[in-house]
Amino acid sequence: MPDHDASSADPVISPGSDAPAPTNSELLDRHVRVLLPLPLPDALDYLAPDGMAPLETGSFVRVSLGVRNLVGVVWGGACGQLPVERLKPILEVLPVPKLKPELRRFVERVAAYTMTPPGSVLRMTISVPEALEPLRPRRVCAVVAAGVAALAAAEPGKRMTPARRRVLEALGQGPPLPAAELARLAGCGPGVVRDLIVSGLIEERLAPAEAPDPASPDWRLSGPSLSPDQSLAAHRLVDNFAAGGFRVTVLDGVTGSGKTETYFAALAAALAARRQVLVLLPEIALGAQWLERFRDRFGVVPAQWHSDIGGAERRDTWRAVAAGRARVVVGARSALFLPFPELGLIIVDEEHDPSYKQEDGVIYQARDMAVLRASLAQIPIVLVSATPSLETVVNVARGRYERVALPRRHAAAELPAVQLVDMRRERIEAGRFLAPPLVAELAATFAAGEQALLFLNRRGYAPLTLCRACGHRFQCPSCTAWLVEHRFTGRLLCHHCGHAEAVPACCPECLAAGALVPCGPGVERLLEEVTARFPAARVALMVSDLLPGPRAAAELAQAMTERRYDLLIGTQIVAKGHHFPMLTLVGIVDADLGLTGGDLRAAERTYQLLHQVGGRAGRAEHKGRVLIQTWMPDQPVMRALAAGDRDRFLEAEAAARRNAGLPPFGRLAALIVSAGDAESVDFTARALARAAPQLPGVTVLGPAPAPLALLRGRHRRRFLVKAGREVNLQAVLRGWLSRVRVQGSARVQIDIDPYSFL
Ligand code: ADP
Ligand code: ZN
Repeated sequence: MPDHDASSADPVISPGSDAPAPTNSELLDRHVRVLLPLPLPDALDYLAPDGMAPLETGSFVRVSLGVRNLVGVVWGGACGQLPVERLKPILEVLPVPKLKPELRRFVERVAAYTMTPPGSVLRMTISVPEALEPLRPRRVCAVVAAGVAALAAAEPGKRMTPARRRVLEALGQGPPLPAAELARLAGCGPGVVRDLIVSGLIEERLAPAEAPDPASPDWRLSGPSLSPDQSLAAHRLVDNFAAGGFRVTVLDGVTGSGKTETYFAALAAALAARRQVLVLLPEIALGAQWLERFRDRFGVVPAQWHSDIGGAERRDTWRAVAAGRARVVVGARSALFLPFPELGLIIVDEEHDPSYKQEDGVIYQARDMAVLRASLAQIPIVLVSATPSLETVVNVARGRYERVALPRRHAAAELPAVQLVDMRRERIEAGRFLAPPLVAELAATFAAGEQALLFLNRRGYAPLTLCRACGHRFQCPSCTAWLVEHRFTGRLLCHHCGHAEAVPACCPECLAAGALVPCGPGVERLLEEVTARFPAARVALMVSDLLPGPRAAAELAQAMTERRYDLLIGTQIVAKGHHFPMLTLVGIVDADLGLTGGDLRAAERTYQLLHQVGGRAGRAEHKGRVLIQTWMPDQPVMRALAAGDRDRFLEAEAAARRNAGLPPFGRLAALIVSAGDAESVDFTARALARAAPQLPGVTVLGPAPAPLALLRGRHRRRFLVKAGREVNLQAVLRGWLSRVRVQGSARVQIDIDPYSFL
C-alpha cells in the first residue's frame, strides 16, 4: 500500500470536498446567499433592501425563514435559486465582527469531510445566538461585606451550611454572577442563593451589559526553569511557531515529563506575537489542576469553553473571543469552532484521547479537525501525549509531522514499576475483586503513609443484576443493555439512555424476595470491599455521577493532594492529568475490560488508558508501583505495559492494521441505519444493501444488527465501508446514498473514521 499517497485518510490532504472556493471579493451586491445554522443542504438567497450598506461576505445578518427570524452568515453572492422578485429581504446586519474567510472555509471543509450540512457545522460556531444580540444589563449576585465576614467567621454546621459556603466561595473568587449560574457553579439549588440574598450575605445588582475585558495572560512572567530536555523541546516548539505557517509538531513525552510547562513556552511566544491561542483538553471539567498551573505561569486563569460553562459566561466568552479580547481559550472539542480573529497557535493536549471524537450531532474527530483548522489558518499546531495515537505516530513516520520527545520524568521522579497479576492463578473469595498481591501492596502503601489509586472503568455498584431464583436479568426497556445498579442512589440505571428505576424489593418476574444478586464489580462495590478490608483507610470515589460539577471534582483532587484521603477509587476520569505527589500505588482492577468487543482500536486504547492511569504513580520523589490484574497476561497489550515497551507495541499494532487495510492505512466509514421499528430499519438496510457500491478498493460489510441493536428505543443496523487510502470515500458514500430513498422514521447516520462500533 503506498504510504506517500496524496489522498489519505487525513482531512487536511483529502477534503473529499467539492465545496466552493471562497470568493476573492468580500464586497457583494444586493443579492447574497446566507448560510443559516440549520441542517439545510445549502445557503439560501436573500436580498439587501435599498439603503442598506453594501454587504460583505462573513457578516452576520438577521433574516426570516418561514415564520422564524434567524441569524445567519453572508456566505457569498446569490446562487440564483429564485427570481429576484421572490427573494426575501435581509432584515438587519448585526454589529458583530465578520466571520473570517479561514473559518468559513473551515465550516465548509468540516461539513464536506463529515458529510453533514454546512449549516449544522455553522451552528457549532454560532453556538450562543444570544452573543449576537444587543446587550442588555443583567441581574447578578455579588457578595457583600457581611457575607465575607460570615464566611470567615462561621464554624461549619451553624448558619454556614456546606452549600452556603460553596456559594460564597464561588462568588469570592470571581465576578458577580446571575443567580441561576451561581447555583449551578456551587452545585446547589436556587433556594440556597435566594436564602443568602434574604439573609443579606449577598446582594443582587444590575451589571453593565458588556462583561469587563478578561484579564490578559502575561507572557512576560517567568515560568520555572526548564530541564535541559524541556528546554530543547520548548525551543523546537518556539522555533516552529516563529517559522510561521502550518506545521504539526508532536510533543511526545512520558507521563510526568513536564509537557505542560514545555508547551507553555510556545504559548508564551504566541502571546508575545499578539496571537490568540487555543488549547484543547479532553475533559475540561477536570482541568482544575491545569488551570492552576496556567495561572501560576501567566498570572490569570484563561477563558474556558466547555459544556459546564453557564449561559452568561458562554455569551461573554464568545464575544470576547470574537473581538479578540480573550487571548487564550482552553476548551473541550467544541472550542475549535469559536470565531477567533487572530488565532496563532493550537495545542491539543492528550491528543490520543477518544473523547475528542464527537459521537452525536455532527460526528467529527476534534484532533483531526484541529489539524485542518491550523492548515487553513496557516498556523502551527502541537499535538501532546505520552501515548500518541497510531494515526499520529504514522504521520510522524511518514514525515508529515515532526516529533519532539521528552524521554524522562521531570526532576528525580522515575517511571513506575509495572507488574502483572495473573488472575487465573489467584484465589479470591466470591464477591471480592482484589487479588492478594494487590491487597498486600495496598496495606504496605497505607502503612508507609503513602496514597493509592484503584482504577476500574465501571460506574455504579454492579454492571448486571440477576434473580437467583429465576435467572431474570434487568435490562433497559429502550436499549440493548443491562441496567447498572447504583447503590448510593438506590437505582438501576441505563448508561446509554439514562433510563432509571428503583431497585425493587423482589424480582419483577418470579416475585421471589431477596433473590437479586449483583454480578461483577463497579467502583461502588470496590469501595465496599476496600472499606471491609481496610476500615481505617480514608477512601474517596472519583466518578462523574457522584461529583455534582467541576468544582466538586476540583475539590476532591485538592483533598487528595492535601492527603486527606489515602485511597482514590475511580473510573477513567482519574486517568487524566492529575498529579498527586504522594500517590505511589496504582492498582488496575480489571485490565481486560476494554479489550472485548472487536473494536479496531481496543488494544491501542487499552494501552493508552492503562498507561495513563499507571502514570499517576510515583510522580514525585517516591517511586511508584503499578499492579495490573488481568486474565490475559500474555496479551500483547499486557506484555507491552509490563515491559514499558510502547514502541514495539505500536509497531506490532501498525503492522496488523496495515495488513488488514485499516486506519490509518486504509479508510473507514460507518453507516448507522435506525428506525422506530424493526421492519422499517430492515427495509432501509436492505435497500441500502441492494444499492451498495461495487467499486475496486471498496468493501461494504453489513448490514448487521448493531451491538446496541436497540438504543433509546430505536432499532439499529450497521454497515462498515472499508476503502483504500486513494479512494474518495465521501464521494462513494454520496453516490450510494443518492441511489436510496430513506423512508418513514428511518434515518441514516454517517460516521467517517468511526471510533465507536456500537
Ligand atoms: P506531563 O504532563 O508530562 O505528565 P506535567 O506537565 O504534569 O507532566 O509535569 C509533572 C510535574 O512536574 C508537575 O507537577 C509540574 O508542575 C512539574 N514540573 C514540570 N516541569 C517543571 C519545571 N521545569 N520546573 C519545576 N517543576 C516542573
Ligand atoms: Zn437505555
